Amino acid sequence: MKLKCYSVGDVDTRSSAADATGVRPRMNRLYQTSTMAALLDAVYDGETTLDELLMHGNFGLGTFNSLDGEMIVNDSVIHQFRADGQAGRVPGDLKTPFACVTFFNPEKEYMIDTARDKDGFEAIVDQLVNNPNLFAAVRFTGMFERVETRTVFCQCRPYPPMLDVVARQPTMQLGASTGTMLGFRTPGYMQGVNVAGYHLHFLTEDGRRGGHVTDYAVLKGRLEVGVISDVEIQLPRTEQFARANLSPENIHEAIRVAEGG
Ligand SMILES: [Zn+2]
Repeated sequence: MKLKCYSVGDVDTRSSAADATGVRPRMNRLYQTSTMAALLDAVYDGETTLDELLMHGNFGLGTFNSLDGEMIVNDSVIHQFRADGQAGRVPGDLKTPFACVTFFNPEKEYMIDTARDKDGFEAIVDQLVNNPNLFAAVRFTGMFERVETRTVFCQCRPYPPMLDVVARQPTMQLGASTGTMLGFRTPGYMQGVNVAGYHLHFLTEDGRRGGHVTDYAVLKGRLEVGVISDVEIQLPRTEQFARANLSPENIHEAIRVAEGG
């Protein structure tokens, strides 16, 4: 009797990521908790712990329960940037109301060696992906001429809508910096489920500063892009989510204001 042999063709050998069973996860598969529209309607408490999140990806972004700061996940490390200036690693039992992660497999790389503003940078990524209807995971590591970030404040119940929160949020001008900017490009038809267009977070090289990116210009460094065609969305079974209005008429404008895109 012959033994059947199975081979996995799409495994990325550069990654050491593996779940508890030792099975390598599928690379560049987007895992998302809740939706952007829910966050806009003040669904600021989720059920997914950070430990659970890391089982679905080693790269990504999001926020924390009570909207307590900006999340950036890079190389399996979750960083938290709070509006009070505190930054650092976080306990695994903390929960998130909205996060997007993937096991990042950079299929395309490009060395940037001349200054590019936001539009110029996005144009390079668009060209590399060459498909506006798919998601992309994007990471730039290098030098920045300037980075403007914002960090949301921790909220107390009853939660105000996100547009009220961001109207009072502090923005930070980081000036010349070295660090990592990463996140996702989401196709337009997913607006509300996620943030259509680019959603990027920033982390300085020393890990002490960062947040949600509202504007920037890169100088030189390495751009890595992974194309995403596989998406899993975990929707909350909470009372808050059940009562939320997830198709408001002004969704495009609300997300533009909330995300600073
Ligand atoms: Zn953000």
